Amino acid sequence: MLTFYRFLQLMMVLATAVMVFACREYFWPLWYIGIPFAVFLILVGLGSYFIWSGLFVKAILHGSRKEPKIAITFDDGPHPIHTPAILNVLKKYNVKATFFCVGERIDEQLDIMKQTIDEGHIVGNHSWQHGLWFDFKSAHNMQVEINRTNHIVQQHTGLLPHFFRPPYGVTNPNLAKAIKNTNMVTIGWSLRSMDTVIKNEDRLLKRITSKIKAGDIVLFHDTQAGTVSVLEAFINHCQHKGIQIVPLDELIEKSAYE
Ligand SMILES: [Zn+2]
Repeated sequence: MLTFYRFLQLMMVLATAVMVFACREYFWPLWYIGIPFAVFLILVGLGSYFIWSGLFVKAILHGSRKEPKIAITFDDGPHPIHTPAILNVLKKYNVKATFFCVGERIDEQLDIMKQTIDEGHIVGNHSWQHGLWFDFKSAHNMQVEINRTNHIVQQHTGLLPHFFRPPYGVTNPNLAKAIKNTNMVTIGWSLRSMDTVIKNEDRLLKRITSKIKAGDIVLFHDTQAGTVSVLEAFINHCQHKGIQIVPLDELIEKSAYE
């Protein structure tokens, strides 16, 4: 199948050939030959960075826009202090969320991961290490990371995660291969809370409440102290506005485990 990425590659090669011809025939400056490749690199870079581009991996970004329902997700945990605090808030309001956990951190906080599942939340896969160089790994090594995290969840809960969120939201051809081989469903987001960047809680809350719309998948991090306090106010806002916070599997109508 001709994917958009393959199409871009083809266009780059064709455009380079045209440039080589034009430079020889019409004496265009030689550096023009590099333009198609530079454009290709910029497009690929943007496509890798923006998960919504779907250039390499078709990620699910939101649910149906027709009903006032949203799902909330937390990345990068389990965190020894903030994850239990978030679980307490969720329990208080009887809200179910999804936690995209890092395998290595699950290994250190097994009880918190088990508690998350026991309390009715979904645990998804967010790679084993979430290393800075994850996106430079081979497809095989990415696959090893995904499997390792799936395995530790399955070993301790009997559940094999089906949902995967790429570390940093970055995708590329190697990750596309690893996701296909591990049969994972890639989950993006439609509303990024920016809770790792915005430290002022009022601003953070204002940002999310002003942008939230039906079908949204909201991205938080359970590694941030600020998220815990904002979460309660956000849930209150949703209840007040008649926005229902539902589990992710229900919002996107896909099963969370194999
Ligand atoms: Zn992350």
